[in-house]
Amino acid sequence: MTSPRLKTYGWGREGEGMSAEERKFVLGRYRAKFARDAFDTITVPRLEDLSLHAPRVAPPASLAAFCTSERYDRAAHTYGKSYPDYVRGMLGDYDCAPDVVAYPRNEAEISAVMDWAGSAGALLTPFGGGSSVCGGVEPRADGVRYKAAVTLDLRHLDKVVEVDATSRAALIEAGTYGPSLENQLKPHGLTLRHFPQSFEYSTLGGWIATRSGGHFASLYTHIDDFVESLRVVTPRGIVETRRLPGSGAGPSPDRLFIGSEGILGVISRAWMRLQPRPKYRAGVSVRFSTFFDAARAVRAIAQAGLYPSNCRILDPSEAFNTGAADGNAAIMVLAFESGDHPQDAWMARALECCGDHRGTPEPTKTGDAHLEGAAGIWRNAFIRMPYAREFLNPAGIITDTFETAITWDRFEGFHDTVKAATERAILEATGLKGEVTCRFTHVYPDGPAPYFSFHALGRHGALLQQWQAIKNAASDALIAAGGTITHHHAVGRDHRPWYDRQRPELFAAALRAAKRELDPQAMLNPGVLIDP
Ligand SMILES: Cc1cc2nc3c(=O)[nH]c(=O)nc-3n(C[C@H](O)[C@H](O)[C@H](O)COP(=O)(O)OP(=O)(O)OC[C@H]3O[C@@H](n4cnc5c(N)ncnc54)[C@H](O)[C@@H]3O)c2cc1C
Repeated sequence: MTSPRLKTYGWGREGEGMSAEERKFVLGRYRAKFARDAFDTITVPRLEDLSLHAPRVAPPASLAAFCTSERYDRAAHTYGKSYPDYVRGMLGDYDCAPDVVAYPRNEAEISAVMDWAGSAGALLTPFGGGSSVCGGVEPRADGVRYKAAVTLDLRHLDKVVEVDATSRAALIEAGTYGPSLENQLKPHGLTLRHFPQSFEYSTLGGWIATRSGGHFASLYTHIDDFVESLRVVTPRGIVETRRLPGSGAGPSPDRLFIGSEGILGVISRAWMRLQPRPKYRAGVSVRFSTFFDAARAVRAIAQAGLYPSNCRILDPSEAFNTGAADGNAAIMVLAFESGDHPQDAWMARALECCGDHRGTPEPTKTGDAHLEGAAGIWRNAFIRMPYAREFLNPAGIITDTFETAITWDRFEGFHDTVKAATERAILEATGLKGEVTCRFTHVYPDGPAPYFSFHALGRHGALLQQWQAIKNAASDALIAAGGTITHHHAVGRDHRPWYDRQRPELFAAALRAAKRELDPQAMLNPGVLIDP
């Protein structure tokens, strides 16, 4: 049985979405927030009503078997999943649709598409699940410097090729989606244990190319730490690195490609470090009267060397929005897990750290708060929330998130500055008070990764400008206060102005030189990370 197609507008596959009850809950929260009985809602155009420019190039017969210029394929590869992507999709603006979408089945076909795209003067966009939230997959061919746009969708490179149970690693093709990857590892009793919120609709290659962050709060959660070796198809040939558990031999070639966002080559497969499936779990939700009390408890836990699998804190408004609390308490979702030993001692010590900062654990019925109480409610909302955007945007609601990281010594001032700047920008851009909330996604001994959400009531006809004004103010504030423009959502094109301020100029020059060597025609993802 084949699955329904991925949506062109929205999250997941056609036919999926929030239930009527879930929609009612989410819209109810926004109605209360903005004191509205109803929202001015517009209709999203159907695929058949979109107008796409005629394809400017056609692939040669030798590539025709796995290339297409069908309307659905072009529309489904025009955008990622950022707020401006959704707005332009909702307005039927598909001006930057790729001319051709290729679905290669092996490295030879990737190379053949690269050769042809180069000779046709086209730009080439590597495409995994298309869940980029920073303009990473949108092809911007102006018809002059780049005569056309070709997108390379890697979904057919979807196999776990080999498992080395002795070293606990597997060779995995880059287009493998999260669920398929885990299903193929399951019979071996192993897991990659990398669960970004986009897990269902994103791929191994996309995770490596964007340095994605998994769901777990500490220790092995970033894709960077799981990569043992890589194979990358570049316009100049194939780069393959050695399988090693560690190496001190100069700058790491793996690290050159991890986070390269498709500008240096197409990652085709990787040996990935695996873990045993967890057997022992301990979980609890802890209530704090303030967000900063919760943050201080997180710092104590992170610096005690406890490495919880989950240590999210939600500020009172964030906890309220998901239904996890009544708006008067900050919540910590705390969990430990292991495939090898019970976690009770670690949990007991972490709860002492919470107690030192006036945290009170919620009683659990089952002993595993992971799936019940505030933690369970929040977890459910976290999994379902990506489906909300497709109906919130047409209602004129501007809702987006941004994530960063900062050292503990600066965290509290940083939080207040960024939150205030974003709140001010919402008021100035929309004329109405909005809401800015914060949680931690990842925690380190030297600082947290704060993740902000903002909510504003926009005006149809001005949504993009209003969103941009808010995004600019938030990004300016966090860069000025010493944070990073992204902790795990990548740079793409949308974060460029702030990434350009953050990264050292000589580093950018070195990266440009690497690109010139590997991609001399600058066909791969122009405008992402650097200007060639
Ligand atoms: C609802 C939602 C939740 C999210 N949650 C998280 C999260 O928890 N953690 C997190 O880190 N991110 C998250 N993201 C962002 C996004 O899912 C990640 O950036 C993810 O790693 C992208 O994977 P993808 O396969 O969808 O890549 P794509 O979006 O297709 O591509 C992303 C970038 O990588 C390049 N690329 C893709 N595949 C390859 C390849 N094989 N070789 C070379 N370059 C390639 C593309 O050209 C592009 O620049 C979320 C996004 C959404 C929409």
